[in-house]
Amino acid sequence: MNLSFEVFPPKKDGSFDTAFEVVERLAEYQPQFISVTYGAGGSKSKKTLEIASHIHNECRTMAVAHLTCVGNTRSEIVERCRELEAHNVMHVLALRGDRPKDMPDEQYNAREFIYATDLIRFIRENSGLHVMAACYPEKHFEAPSMEADLAVMKEKQDLGVEEYISQMFFDNRLFYEFLEKARAIGITKPIHAGIMPLTSAKQLGTSVSLSGSSVPKALSDLIAAYAENPEDMYQAGIEYAAAQIADLREHGVDGVHIYTMNKPKVVGDILRILGGE
Ligand code: FAD
Repeated sequence: MNLSFEVFPPKKDGSFDTAFEVVERLAEYQPQFISVTYGAGGSKSKKTLEIASHIHNECRTMAVAHLTCVGNTRSEIVERCRELEAHNVMHVLALRGDRPKDMPDEQYNAREFIYATDLIRFIRENSGLHVMAACYPEKHFEAPSMEADLAVMKEKQDLGVEEYISQMFFDNRLFYEFLEKARAIGITKPIHAGIMPLTSAKQLGTSVSLSGSSVPKALSDLIAAYAENPEDMYQAGIEYAAAQIADLREHGVDGVHIYTMNKPKVVGDILRILGGE
């Protein structure tokens, strides 16, 4: 099964050593790729570049640099692409991003890219980078319908997107339904299933609520049962993620993308369960 991981750059300046250690440990699991997130405002882009470059050039693992366009001009995007190419980071996850809270109306209204599709077209026309895109098994929150969102996904493929990474989901049945609909409208490119291991109750209020992903009763029951006991919550969370991944593997999905939250131990523990240890 193709495994891949997502990491985020260090929040504080100067904590690169820890981030490098994280990706070095993750690279030992020989993933297909490791992707690095990018702030929607674009101001921290150098951090994404540095981590992605370390993954490619030091860990000898394929790096995917996320790139958002809501806060960037065309010339900035050209510059970002040139920097990535100069470091031999040849894969980007092209995203729109969400409007940062501190972005003034004037800047938002004058933005040069409206949708990820505008960015994908632009990158394809102005660089030699391979382009991936996001997709949403439970539909993007702004899309009027699943069909409209799938049409956007198909448009991304028509523009040259080579692979997709999905938003996190906790109910595999929703992913299989989505996959069937995507294939039915001619989306043939690989779709990596996004899995977020929930190892603390706190994550529910942060990453999960931001993603808009639904939480099935089995998972919310588990959180309710273990919320007060961090060790049991951790174990239950990795077991849930491992069970999701085992089922995805049985269904022959193209790949599983783990949102690692920069915790290689979580990945190691999940892989041990999957390996039957
Ligand atoms: P789009 O594809 O532009 O879609 C946004 C909405 O517009 C959708 O409702 C879509 O249906 C609609 N739409 C798109 N194109 C068109 C069109 N041509 N015509 C009409 N409607 C259209 N955010 C970050 O800031 N940094 C990250 O590193 C990051 N990484 C992510 C990784 C993954 C795997 C995922 C799933 C999301 C990530 N995000 C990240 C969040 C992402 O930026 C948000 O989900 C954002 O709201 C949408 O981005 P998008 O690229 O999917 O946008």
